Amino acid sequence: MKLSIINKKRNGLIIVLALALILGWFIVKLFFIDKSEGVKETERRTISVMTTSNYPPFEFVNENEKPDGFDNDLIQAIAEEVDLELEYESGLWLDIRKEVEDGSVHALTGMNNSIEREKLVDFTNPILINSHALFVRKGSSIKSLNDIRGKDVIIQKGDIAYEKIINEGWDVNVILTYSSDEFVRRLSAGEGDCGIHTRYVITYHMNKNKIDNLEVVGPAIWQNIYCFPVKEGDSALVNRLNRGLEIVKENGRYDEIYGKWFGVATEWQKERWQIIRWIIFAAILLIIFFFVINLFWNYELRRKIKERTQTLRMQIRQRKEAEEKLKEKENALRERNESLTHLNEEIEKTNESLEKVNDSFNKAKEKAEANNLLKSTFLANLSHEIRTPISGIVSFAGLLQYGHPEPQEREEGLDIILKSGHQLLHLIDEVLEVSKIESGEQEIKKELFSVGRMFNELLQFFQPMASEKNLELIVKGDSLNSGIFIHSDKKRIIQIMNNLLTNAIKYSEQGCIEMGCKLVDQSLEFYVKDDGIGIASDQQKNIFMPYWQIKADRSRKSYKGTGIGLAICKGLVELLGGSISLCSQTGKGSCFSFDIPLSHK
Ligand code: ADP
Repeated sequence: MKLSIINKKRNGLIIVLALALILGWFIVKLFFIDKSEGVKETERRTISVMTTSNYPPFEFVNENEKPDGFDNDLIQAIAEEVDLELEYESGLWLDIRKEVEDGSVHALTGMNNSIEREKLVDFTNPILINSHALFVRKGSSIKSLNDIRGKDVIIQKGDIAYEKIINEGWDVNVILTYSSDEFVRRLSAGEGDCGIHTRYVITYHMNKNKIDNLEVVGPAIWQNIYCFPVKEGDSALVNRLNRGLEIVKENGRYDEIYGKWFGVATEWQKERWQIIRWIIFAAILLIIFFFVINLFWNYELRRKIKERTQTLRMQIRQRKEAEEKLKEKENALRERNESLTHLNEEIEKTNESLEKVNDSFNKAKEKAEANNLLKSTFLANLSHEIRTPISGIVSFAGLLQYGHPEPQEREEGLDIILKSGHQLLHLIDEVLEVSKIESGEQEIKKELFSVGRMFNELLQFFQPMASEKNLELIVKGDSLNSGIFIHSDKKRIIQIMNNLLTNAIKYSEQGCIEMGCKLVDQSLEFYVKDDGIGIASDQQKNIFMPYWQIKADRSRKSYKGTGIGLAICKGLVELLGGSISLCSQTGKGSCFSFDIPLSHK
């Protein structure tokens, strides 16, 4: 496949090079190979040629009565090249023109071409471009053709100007002459306003006869194609003259003749034509050169592009490989990241659980610290509670021993000593009770007892204390005579009721204290209700904690105590299989209630 593409390219290159060589050969042939070769006429021919005697510098009869001028020199040079023999005759223009139109002679030595004349004679290729001009005397008001309307215009009869002016019907007065020297003479002498004639011819006469009062005004009027006229139908002669004309132009004789009669301009033209030829040749060579260079350039460029494409493909492949490796690394990294994230999550979880443990440690610590504080407060309170009765005992014992008290004072002192002793015993009992409850050493001794009788005993015992503070103490409704018996530890229940009633009296300044019980399912619910100072709701949750006391503030005065009474109650109630609860409102009173199963094993 690749081989066939290369072969095709090579074949294309060879074809293009061959075309370039053929083109080059044609160009060289066109510009540089002598066209006169191979056109030599084999058949010598004699032709009759007429020339006018008074149309210099084109044609005229010289001093030696010989035809002379550009036309005669040129036709002779052509005749030599194409092997023609010329038989000359001369005459006036109007006459010789008629001769060729009649076909009496083969050719004339020159005539301006026109459509009308084409109908009468055949013309060779142009000999030169001839122009007509407007001639005036110097100082004339006529500056161009626009100014000649209605003027007297000199023209030569039979000249192309005559045909044009007459045929086109110009608005001028025509003054006819019969030769070009007559034209110059009459115009120079003041006849007519202006004249129209062949520029070269009139200029030649002016120079020759040193006439300097005439001048050309305005641009050329007509550009005439000047040719050899040949009798109509003699195309062989036309072709022969054309070939000859081509040869003399090529070999330089035309330019020599032109230069002789019209000045050096032809040399310049010749040089110009030579230069143009060289420029065109150089340009074509350059184009071929650049074309070939371009071909090689393209070939080289394609080769380089191919190489570069291969390199790029390789680079792309390497890049893809590198990308894949990178992707693999990325994946590995992602997996690692995921496992790290997982690990992180685990660590966070561990941290959370550690924080929880820490929190619980902190809480435990705080609790322990709070307990410590509570215990310290308790010890301080306990010391105070012990100190007061002991002080009473010591001071009254001292009075009895060393003083001489009256019998009544003596009685009172003994009473105080006794009460203080009981108080101390009670305090010690409570402390022991708490420690037993906390260590779980408390024992229960159950018995069947009458609840009504228990209430009666409690009423008897606390009535005096309540009365002392002007408080009413009542047992609710039928609680006294209900006849309810319960199988439980009577001593503990009384202990609980004692604590609750003591508190009710202690924390009440007015109103009534009510105790009682009611059956709820399989339990008997006891309660002690007072109209005392009440307990704020935010304090209620801690109220059963050992050593907990509500601090005195503006709304609450300071009460004595150790903060273990309610903790003992709670411990004992739970020991008996029940639960204790509180319902209270600040300033309105409290109601402590606990339930004891009717029979608890
Ligand atoms: P204390 O020896 O201080 O009375 P308690 O354990 O018996 O100890 O009571 C704890 C706290 O509960 C008391 O300090 C008191 O402030 C409050 N309290 C107990 N009973 C009552 C009540 N009936 N009315 C108001 N406050 C009470």
